[in-house]
Amino acid sequence: MLHKKSDIHELKPDQLMLTPTYASSELNKAAPKYKMPEGEMLPRTASEIVRDELMLDGNSRLNLATFVSTWMEPEARELMAETFDKNMIDKDEYPQTAELEMRCVHMLADMWNSPEAENTIGCSTIGSSEACMLAGLALKWKWRERMQAKGKSTDRPNIVMGANVQVCWHKFCRYWDVEPRCVPCEGDRFIIDAGEAVKLCDENTIGVVVIMGSTMDGRYEPVKEVNEGLEGLNAETGWEIPIHVDAASGGFAVPFLQPELEWDFRLKWVKSINTSGHKYGLVYPGVGWVVWRDVGELPEDLIFNVNYLGGQMPTFALSFSRPGAQICAQYYNFIRLGREGYRRIMESCRDTALHLSGEIAKMGPFELVSDGSDIPVFCWKLKKETNFSLFDLADKLRDRSWLVPAYTMPPNREDLVVQRIVVKHGFSRDMACLLLDDIRRHLKHFASQAGRTPKKTGSHFHH
Ligand SMILES: *Cc1c(COP(=O)(O)O)cnc(C)c1O
Repeated sequence: MLHKKSDIHELKPDQLMLTPTYASSELNKAAPKYKMPEGEMLPRTASEIVRDELMLDGNSRLNLATFVSTWMEPEARELMAETFDKNMIDKDEYPQTAELEMRCVHMLADMWNSPEAENTIGCSTIGSSEACMLAGLALKWKWRERMQAKGKSTDRPNIVMGANVQVCWHKFCRYWDVEPRCVPCEGDRFIIDAGEAVKLCDENTIGVVVIMGSTMDGRYEPVKEVNEGLEGLNAETGWEIPIHVDAASGGFAVPFLQPELEWDFRLKWVKSINTSGHKYGLVYPGVGWVVWRDVGELPEDLIFNVNYLGGQMPTFALSFSRPGAQICAQYYNFIRLGREGYRRIMESCRDTALHLSGEIAKMGPFELVSDGSDIPVFCWKLKKETNFSLFDLADKLRDRSWLVPAYTMPPNREDLVVQRIVVKHGFSRDMACLLLDDIRRHLKHFASQAGRTPKKTGSHFHH
């Protein structure tokens, strides 16, 4: 039976079901964009439209720019799909999800060598950004308590950090009115310097942020040296300036790759640590974690008690409702992988990163800025100016959907352009070989284009 498009609404439901998907009237016109349509459409049709549009997003597995998980085991995906309906804030309705959250906090405290893993306090968040806000607020509150006890002004708090901090720390400063004091990059140093950081501290310093796994080049910052510097300064002045470690990317890497490295609660002045469960915690977005050294580090008046979900619920968070599935998946990863599994995954990511960086270093035009031996993240620069820039190479790599970003370094080294690869679980050695072949192919192309002008800036997202 043949139908004209206009007949379609007169079709009986069972006939409508027969319509070939892409011959349906809805799929033969543009999708509604900025105004909600008046009528309904079939679920199949609507989901096809959305799915098809999203093909233009590309394949997340080829996104080597992001730190965030793009692969999980089928069992984990299933588990997440079964727990999509859980709102983690409803701790009274979903007490077992709340229990899993607490178990994760304790496992993290233990993994980070908390002297009081039993008596620890912490929570899940939507990601490290929220975790950093909470940790920063706790620093600010504790500082205020110390200053008030001494009868001193609490008008001008500041926080000391490297110029390479992730944008969430600049947000923290602006949103909560704290003066940022940044240690600038210097020459080939793109991370904080312990001596310079301590020099920037004064009695209004709420804390020093040290990063395990700099976003810019994957390097670890010298937490132990900062701890020693503060030990001296605090002993001399009585200021008690603490450290917060932003281990968004490194929190799950260091304990397995460099277990001997002292960066965590083994160090006296490290009072809180955050990590992104959705980075090397190996969960899909979004889940983050923040853990305090002991209960006393989290000021009580930051905690709210609500009773309108039933029961008395203490909460310390910026958001209220949040998906519980990620927490279930985090706990799944913990018990599925154990320390051994995490160690093997981190080592395999690092081996792939070292292999890739070694091959890239051999290609000729590039020099490594880092090689992926801290977290499995590394970046490189051009040895000298030539007829292509790293922005050009990034553009070329997009031809086959690889996302390998080029960007400028932080203040004082904004002249330096680097290109970075984040090796994640799910990026196999075979894919690494394919990527290397593509880079070599593009280099050949550039070499054949004598006189071409290199592009000076990156492409921006345009709507
Ligand atoms: C990714 C990252 C953040 C932000 O984490 P989200 O989980 O994306 O909110 C903060 N700090 C560092 C060092 C990071 O790498």
